[in-house]
Formats: sequence, structure tokens, C-alpha cells
Amino acid sequence: MIELYDIYKIYKMGENEVYALNGVSLKIKPHEFVAIVGPSGSGKSTLMNIIGCLDTPTSGTYILDGHEVSKLNDNQLAEIRNSKIGFVFQNFNLIPQLTALENVELPLIYKGTPASTRHKLAKEALARVGLEHRMHHRPRELSGGQQQRVAIARALVTNPAIILADEPTGNLDSKSGAEIMQIFKELHAQGSTIVLITHDNNLAAQARRIVRIQDGQIIEDKEVS
Ligand code: ADP
Ligand code: MG
Repeated sequence: MIELYDIYKIYKMGENEVYALNGVSLKIKPHEFVAIVGPSGSGKSTLMNIIGCLDTPTSGTYILDGHEVSKLNDNQLAEIRNSKIGFVFQNFNLIPQLTALENVELPLIYKGTPASTRHKLAKEALARVGLEHRMHHRPRELSGGQQQRVAIARALVTNPAIILADEPTGNLDSKSGAEIMQIFKELHAQGSTIVLITHDNNLAAQARRIVRIQDGQIIEDKEVS
């Protein structure tokens, strides 16, 4: 499903070039639960942005579900991103003025889903993260862990095949972080493909496959039983 071949990403900073990714090749199959782990600055977010079609590599080939991403136009790219991938970020990225339910409905509004279906799907997504009873609360009325659960519900609501999460527990205390990991495990058990990006070895150890990245290169790739 995700196929990366010899991916380089070079950022130009005036005179300098930063090699954020140095020839990354990686395949992720449907229903895997993969942790991409490495220290700060190792290229994890750059890799996530490329996998999520939010950024393009300097060179190399990315094939997502059989589509060569560099050959897609902007509309096709947006379509594939919106239909196949759900994003979860460290800082939740919720809209403060909207309730939990309204935040979760947003991706469906972009898709043009009718209101009644939207409410139903958003409530179902909130129920999957155990937050149905908080659907009319605004983000500031929720704990950090609850806000991240809303963000996960928003990622789930379009029923994407892949959940891409970049340091999803980075702003949470360890108990809330453990709850978020539990939700990812459940989603994986229900068939989602999970790509978890983290600098935390203990979190990574809870995935089924660990891909270790350092200085923009994969230095280890192992299955966990
Ligand atoms: P990580 O998520 O593992 O901390 P990043 O992918 O954010 O790593 O960054 C990898 C390297 O690329 C770092 O050296 C970082 O400073 C650099 N980098 C990331 N984004 C940019 C950018 N937009 N412009 C220039 N350099 C960048
Ligand atoms: Mg990062």
C-alpha cells in the first residue's frame, strides 16, 4: 500500500542544504501497525509529510495504493489524501470555537457529506474513542487526552485506510498517552493501518513493527511479536 523507493528530501537554507532524508526505502502493507522511531531531527516528520502527501520528495518514488504520487495533479492528490489518510498531530490541531462534534464533522463537510449522515458518522467516531458524552464540549473544556481523542475521531470519521500519527502523545501525561496508545491498538485490531511516529522507544515497542531512523536513513526495521 505504501511503497517508498530511495527517497531523498533536501531542504535548501540559503547557501546550505539539509539532507533530511537520505535514501529511504520502505514498504508498509495494509493492516500493519508500524512505529517510526528516531531522535529529534532524524527526519521523522519529513517522512510523515511525504507519506501523507503533504510534501513531495526531492527525489525518489512514492507509490500509494498503486498510484505514483509525483504523477498526480493537485486535485487527485487532495482526493487521495482526504480519502485514504487520517492525520493525528502532537498539538491536536482542533478548532477552538467548534464543539468536539463539529470538529469531527469537518472532514465530512469538505467531502460534501449531507448533514444528517455527517452527525451520525461523527457521533460514531466519537463513540469509538469513548467521548460520545463530551460531543458538545469545546476543546478548552476537555483534557489534553480528550482533545487528542477528538482529533483521532476526526481522523477516523472518513474511514481512511491509514492513520498517520506524528508524536501523538508528545503533549500528554503518561496516563493519557497510554490511553491514546490503547486506542491505536484497538483501531489496528479493527483493521486500520497505523503509522506512529515517535522519539519514544517505549511507545514504539507497543507497535508490531519498529522502523528506526537516524540522520535521514533507516538503520533498523524489525517485527515485534
Ligand atoms: P524529526 O521529526 O525527526 O524531528 P524533521 O523531519 O522535522 O525531524 O527534520 C529533519 C531535518 O530536516 C532536521 O535537520 C530539520 O532541521 C530539517 N528540516 C525540517 N523541516 C525543514 C524545513 N522546512 N526547512 C529546512 N530544514 C528543515
Ligand atoms: Mg518531528
